[in-house]
Amino acid sequence: ETAAIQRKIALMGYPCVGKSSLTLRFVQGHFPDAYDTTIEDLHTKLFKFQGKPYDLQVIDTAGQQEYSLFPRSCALDVHGYILVYAIDDRKTFEIIQTIHDKIMENVGETSVPLVLVGNKLDLQHSSRSVSTEEGKKLANAWKAAFIETSAKDNTAVQTIFEHMLYEIESAAGNIQPT
Ligand code: GDP
Ligand code: MG
Repeated sequence: ETAAIQRKIALMGYPCVGKSSLTLRFVQGHFPDAYDTTIEDLHTKLFKFQGKPYDLQVIDTAGQQEYSLFPRSCALDVHGYILVYAIDDRKTFEIIQTIHDKIMENVGETSVPLVLVGNKLDLQHSSRSVSTEEGKKLANAWKAAFIETSAKDNTAVQTIFEHMLYEIESAAGNIQPT
């Protein structure tokens, strides 16, 4: 029997963008009721990717305010970062750029596996304020993967983690980039 591959992933982003909702949707399969935005939690999930078993550790951070742009929990042994903004809130898109800079300062590697996520896609017709193009453009500049999701509707939530593992394994040379 093959041992599961261990990978640690951190979700970062301004409070209320949906980090906990995405995490709980992925780990537990449901959209949670009100969740305390000041709580940081570590979740585990067994996940199959490209036919291999993964033992994922997912750090759902408490939300990056000015004083905690880079929580200590995100410094050690983290293989990749999921950076989340909400498509209905421009401020969260602006702040994700500051958070990205903090990651680069703290991790200090040229290629950090990253996925940029525009969450709350279910609100696109009523209150979108960040376009898909803007998200894509930013992700391209970072050489990150990009996806828009809805934790509420369960749109593309699992795909975030598939993109994350793809970024991690190709940066490690375990997959030939296509
Ligand atoms: P966090 O602070 O980033 O962990 O955000 P939460 O997961 O606690 O979510 C903040 C608020 O946004 C809550 O009221 C959630 O119900 C709501 N929310 C999260 N994801 C979505 C989504 O995909 N669509 C919509 N419409 N609301 C969402
Ligand atoms: Mg939260």
